[in-house]
Amino acid sequence: MPEAPLREEKTFRGIPVSAGVCRGKILVIGKPRQTVAKRQLADGQAVEEVNRLEKALVQTRHQLLDVQRKVSEGMGAQEGSIFDAHLLVLEDRTLLDEVVRVIQQEKVNAEHAFHTVAERYATTLAAIEDDYLRERATDMRDVTARVLNNLLGMEDGIDLRHLKEPCLIISHDLTPSNTAQLDRRNALGFATDVGSKTSHTAIMARHLRIPAVVGLKNVSGQLESGQFALLDGFNGVLIINPTEQTLFEYGQVVRKKVTLEEKLRELLPQPAVTLDGHRVLLSANIEQAADAQEVKAYGAEGVGLFRTEYLFINRDHLPSEEQQCQAYRQAAAALKPMPVVMRTLDLGGDKFLSHLQVPTELNPFLGWRAIRFCLQERDIFREQLRAILRASSEGNIKMMFPMISGLDELNQASALVEDYKAELRRENIPFDEQMEIGAMIETPSAVIVADSLAKRLKFFSIGTNDLIQYSLAVDRLNEKIAHLYEPTHPAIVRLIKATVDAAHNHKIWVSVCGEMASDPVLAPLLLGLGIDELSVAPPLVPPVKFLIRGLKASDARELAEFALNCESGSEILGRCQELARQAAPRLFDDI
Ligand code: PEP
Ligand code: MG
Repeated sequence: MPEAPLREEKTFRGIPVSAGVCRGKILVIGKPRQTVAKRQLADGQAVEEVNRLEKALVQTRHQLLDVQRKVSEGMGAQEGSIFDAHLLVLEDRTLLDEVVRVIQQEKVNAEHAFHTVAERYATTLAAIEDDYLRERATDMRDVTARVLNNLLGMEDGIDLRHLKEPCLIISHDLTPSNTAQLDRRNALGFATDVGSKTSHTAIMARHLRIPAVVGLKNVSGQLESGQFALLDGFNGVLIINPTEQTLFEYGQVVRKKVTLEEKLRELLPQPAVTLDGHRVLLSANIEQAADAQEVKAYGAEGVGLFRTEYLFINRDHLPSEEQQCQAYRQAAAALKPMPVVMRTLDLGGDKFLSHLQVPTELNPFLGWRAIRFCLQERDIFREQLRAILRASSEGNIKMMFPMISGLDELNQASALVEDYKAELRRENIPFDEQMEIGAMIETPSAVIVADSLAKRLKFFSIGTNDLIQYSLAVDRLNEKIAHLYEPTHPAIVRLIKATVDAAHNHKIWVSVCGEMASDPVLAPLLLGLGIDELSVAPPLVPPVKFLIRGLKASDARELAEFALNCESGSEILGRCQELARQAAPRLFDDI
C-alpha cells in the first residue's frame, strides 16, 4: 500500500548541487505504478468498462504505431521492429479475454482488471529461466503502463520540454539529456533520489540557474504530484508542506541573495584581479552556441570549455559537419576576439546518444568514452575535427581532447588533425593554421606523463571532476560515496601542482575547467597552485570574480604551500574556508 500523502511539514536532506531557493507544486516523474485503485461496478456498468478498455487499446495501438514510425525513420527499420512485440501484446486474445472476464464476473473497473491480469502474466514470464520470455515480461509491463495511462486519462509520459505549469520536478534520477531539455520557463527546480555534485545533471542545473538537490535517497517514492514544497539549493534541503514560519524565513534568505546579486552585477565590466595585482583569466563553460550570450552577460572573458557533446544528444541524427561548423562558428563569432576552447566529443560515462547503438558497459566511466570512442569512430571524429578547423577561420577558436591517458592517444588525435588540415588545404577551405591545441588533464596517468604531453601542446585544462574520481577511485555519480569525493585530498592538491609545474616548465598555460574552479572556497587554492585560468558555469563567474578581487595572491600562495605540506584533506579544506571567508565574507553570509 502506498503511504498516505504527508500533510505536516517534513524536511528531506540531500546534496546541494545548484544554488537558489524555489517553491511550488511538485511534479513526481518516473514513478513506477504499484497499485491501481479498484472500483466496484454497479449492475450494467460492465459493458461500459469493456468499451473503455477497447478504446484505450485502440488509442495505445495508434501511439505505438506512431512511435514505431518515428523510430524507424530516425534509427532504421530494425530498431523500429522492437515495437512489434509491444503491438503483439495488444493483440494477445488470451490476455484480453481474461481481462474482459474479470471485468464482467468480478464487476471491477477496467484499469484494475487490466493491471491485475497483465501483471500476473508479466510476473510469470519474468520468473521463467529464459531470456526471450523475460524480455516479453518487460514488453508486457511497458504496454500495460501505456494502456493504463490511456484508461486513466493521463498523458503518454510527461514532456519535460513543455511543462503545463511552473513546478518543482521530483524524480528518482534525471539523465543529462533530460535535464538539457527541461522547460526553462516552468521548471522551478529539481530534486532527485540519486546523484552527486559533479554529475552532468547537476552541472546542467547550475547552467540553467535552477535550484537543485540530489542524493535525497528515496524521496520520489514518498511524494505525490501536486503537493506543495520548498527547495533550498544552498543547503540541499527539500521541505514538503512548509509552514508560514518556514516560508517567511526563506523569504529573508532570498532577499539577502538579491542584494548580493545586485552587488555582484556591479563587477561585470571589472577584470578578475587580486588585491595585489595578480590577473587571472576567468572564463565560462558552455554547452551550446546560444550560451555565448550568457558568457558576455556574466562578464566572462571567453569560453574555457565548450562541451560539444550536447550538440549530439537529444536529436535523432548525428549533426553533420556543416551543422557543427555553423554552431562552432556562431559561438566564435559572438565572442571574438575572446577565446573559445572547443572540447572534442566526450560521449560515454553519463552522456549517451539515444540513436547510437553503444553497448551497455559495466564501468562506463572507465570504458568506451571521449577520445577512446572518437579514435575508433573515425567518421564521427573526422566530421567534428573538420568542423572545428573550418570554424576556426572565424574568431579565436582553440581545441582540446578529453580524457587523454597517455602520449599514444594524443599522437593519434594530433595526426588526424594534421590529415584533415591537409584535406582542407587541398579543398581550398580556410582555417586557422595557428589554432592552439591542448589536452584535458583528467586521468592520473596524464599527470604522470604531463611533461611529455606539455612538449607537444599549447595548453592544459584540468578536468577536476574526472581527475578526482579517477585518482581517488570514487564514482562521481554515486551519492553513497559522495563524502569520499574530496577535492582538497592531499593527492589531488599534489596532482594539480605537478600538472602546473609540467605546463609552466614548457611555457604553456594551464586552466581548470572542472567544478572545483566554480567553488569560491577552492578557487584561492587553485590560484595559489599557479593555475592561469578558471573556467566556470556562466552564472558562477560573478561570485568567483568577487572572491578573486577580495583576495591577495600572496595569501593564496601561502595557502597552497600549506596544502602541499599538509596530510589531511579536511585541514586543507578548513584553511581554504578561512581564506575565502576573509576575502569575501558577504559570499558566505549564512544561507
Ligand atoms: C571534468 O572532468 O572536470 C570536466 C570538465 O569534464 P566533464 O565534467 O564534462 O567530464
Ligand atoms: Mg571530464
